[in-house]
Amino acid sequence: MHELSVVEGMVHILTRTARENALKRIVAVRLKLGRLRGFDPRQIVLCFEMLSEGTRAQGARLEINVVPPRCHCRSCGRIWEPDGFLLTCPTCGENNAEIEGGRELYIENVEGEPGSG
Ligand SMILES: [Zn+2]
Repeated sequence: MHELSVVEGMVHILTRTARENALKRIVAVRLKLGRLRGFDPRQIVLCFEMLSEGTRAQGARLEINVVPPRCHCRSCGRIWEPDGFLLTCPTCGENNAEIEGGRELYIENVEGEPGSG
């Protein structure tokens, strides 16, 4: 389960953020997750609940923003969301696309409650 190690790192970052910003606890976390990473958002939430227990991130609302991959046609400049592995441009029919996005994995926003408690 790859989700576990990712969430482990995330909880580490969150507890450090809480410490450095004198936050009593983390209230909400927004995570940006590219679909091409292949992670299951439900697994991430489960792992988060498990691993954040006893830390300042416990009970935080975890919002996962799944980012779909996008194709960019080098011939005509069209940008679209690919359907499976078919990368043929819907505008010009060329097979000259590159994939942009979909590999994101980072904490976009953290909300905390002030207080050193
Ligand atoms: Zn095109």
